Parts: sequence; structure tokens; C-alpha cells
Amino acid sequence: MKIQDFFIRFPDEASCKAHFKSEREKQGVVCKRCQGKEHYWISTRDQYQCKKCKFRTTLRSGTLLHCSQLPYYLSIIPGMMMLTSTKKSFSALEIQRQLGHLYYEPIWYTLHKIRYAMGKRDDNYKLCNETELDEGFFEIVPNKENRDRIATELKENNGKYKRGKGSQKQTTVLVMAESKTVDPSQKYKHKPNKKVGYIKMQLLENLRKETTNKLLEKTIDKKSSTITDGGNNYNDLNKNLVNHKAVIADVKKEASKILPWVHIAISNAKRLFLDIHHSIGDEYLQSYLNEYCYKFNRRYFDSVFDRVVITSVSCKWQNNV
Ligand SMILES: [Zn+2]
Repeated sequence: MKIQDFFIRFPDEASCKAHFKSEREKQGVVCKRCQGKEHYWISTRDQYQCKKCKFRTTLRSGTLLHCSQLPYYLSIIPGMMMLTSTKKSFSALEIQRQLGHLYYEPIWYTLHKIRYAMGKRDDNYKLCNETELDEGFFEIVPNKENRDRIATELKENNGKYKRGKGSQKQTTVLVMAESKTVDPSQKYKHKPNKKVGYIKMQLLENLRKETTNKLLEKTIDKKSSTITDGGNNYNDLNKNLVNHKAVIADVKKEASKILPWVHIAISNAKRLFLDIHHSIGDEYLQSYLNEYCYKFNRRYFDSVFDRVVITSVSCKWQNNV
């Protein structure tokens, strides 16, 4: 959506709220007390009243905006528009500056809630057909708990970080991409020999095969066939998936031909995070990965903004998440 179209469509608080309300009603309002689905709207209080038991539900209750005090106009709705207006992203500080909002924290918190909802939405779908699998190692800033552990490990190792897989500066992410081999006659020069579908990126606690298998159960359809670089954590894939092909590439260049899309996704995500967010705390990395995958998976959609509004209406936020 162009920015002028956006402000014609949403010129004030009332229009933004009306859009949120209409999307909420399309999903259906359910009474918390009696599960009733029929409600009156009390406009003076911004609340729904259950026709059966008279229980009242606020417009934001049971959605992503539960407990949020931010106005819809010049914060939540334009924030969603900015976040979805580009394939790249904006930092919370930049969105705060553009919207002229006084405080950073509520904007930062709301953006993380939106990213959480994006991840929940993508969790509803599993990857299928041919899928590439590989790990990406993303640089992170460790949280307080991990900082103490790393400090002890560094002391034991004469102040040196571990190298390669398992380095304390990085965290492991399992990257999955649906990819289909392109007919050589239709392949464009300088383009990969495979066509990408949907992708997923999930933090991996460790590189054990049990952890990888557990994650794959949730993310990949059992009937799909996978291709990997033959890492030890993929040893048991044949038990869970129909077909697993491990291709061990001798030269690094060859690996990008075998697994082109996971490597493209990893390097693009790394570059984007470095450009926009500079450094990411380890507890927030999944949130940024959610946003990246959500937008990548909807790259051909007409309006990602409308999808995000629907997602935020249907995703329930709990303060302990
Ligand atoms: Zn009720």
C-alpha cells in the first residue's frame, strides 16, 4: 500500500479503530464466561456485551492488543503498515521517530507482539514436497544468564571463544526451505537451479539429532522429502520423513548449488539484521526470524498489511509470553 493511500484510508483514530473492530467481528467475538457468540456493541464504553450472560469484553481483550494502552492512530495501525511496507524492516527506534511517538518502549513491545503473532500464524502451516535443511549460525548478544556462563567458560579457555559450531558468540538456527528443481530449459542465467516456496527458521537449542527431529515433527510434513548436507543431527531423518537425501559437498561452492535457498535465506537474513538492528539479544532472535519468514512467505501477496491486522486480531496475547 502506498503511504498516501494509507492515510486516505486511515485519516484518524476512529477509522483505525473501526477497521480493527470490523476485522475482529469477522473472526467472531466469543464470551469468556459462557462461550456465547452473540454480542451487543456498547459504543460509549468500547465494549461488547454478551446477549446471554451480560458479560462484557473490551475491543482489545482476547487479541494481540490485550492490555495495550497505545492509540490505534499514529502508533499501532501505522506501525503495522511500516513493518509490512518493505521486504526489509524498520527498527523500533525508526518507527518511533517516524510516528512522532514520545516513548520507545511501548512501540518496541508492540512490534515484538506483532512478530510473535507472525510466528504463531506461520506455525499453522507445515512445509511439504521437497525441502532443503541446513543450520545457520547467527551472531547474538547473550542475555545476563548466558553472559555469566560464557565468562566462566572464557576463564577456563584462557579468554578465547570456541571456534566454529558451538561458538559462544553465535546461536544455531535450523533453516528449512521448500525448493523444487527448475527445468534446465527454463532456468535463468545467474539464478539458482531451484525454485523456492515457503521457508521456516527456528532456533535450535543444540545440534543433537533428537532436538532436530523434535523440531522437524512440528515444522515439516511427514510425506516430504528432504535434502541436507549430511550433518550428524540429520542421522535419524529417514525414520520420520519419507525420503532423506544427504549430499556431502567437498567444495563450499558446490554446497550452494545443492542447498541454494537455505543459504540465500541465511545470508539475506544476517545482512538484514546487521543493517537494521545492528545487534540482537539471544532471547529476541526468534522474533526477528518470525518477521523475516512471515514476509518472505507472503512476498507475492497483495497486502501484507491487511494480513497482519487479521493475524493480530486472531492471536491471543498473554503477558507471560
Ligand atoms: Zn456470555
